[in-house]
Amino acid sequence: MALNPCQSCGACCATYRVTFHRGELDDLGGCVPAALTEQVTAVMACMRGTGAAPVRCAALRGEIGRDVSCAIYEFRPSPCREFGALAAVGQGDEACNDARRRHGLPPLEAT
Ligand code: SF4
Ligand code: SF4
Repeated sequence: MALNPCQSCGACCATYRVTFHRGELDDLGGCVPAALTEQVTAVMACMRGTGAAPVRCAALRGEIGRDVSCAIYEFRPSPCREFGALAAVGQGDEACNDARRRHGLPPLEAT
């Protein structure tokens, strides 16, 4: 089993719309690759693949529940950096565990 549960999960990247301010895009001075995003409103963007069902972020690599990685990990947007802050050490919150449940994965220990 991987030390970091996220490396064998990826459920959140295939459950929620990942929305953030367009100022985070690399062509607007941020670091998130704009080519992997879609415009939502005049000021908001989302990761491509997360705007409509079936949700799967365009940057997600691998098989959910087995072995996954983020192709833009160093440059991922703020919601990804903030989501499931303690999941990496085995503690899931409600949104993390709900995503896991939707993909048939057991919950992490509650915080
Ligand atoms: S934060 Fe939770 S749902 Fe997201 S990859 Fe980690 S364990 Fe899975
Ligand atoms: S950018 Fe990376 S961490 Fe964020 S939803 Fe996509 S695959 Fe997951």
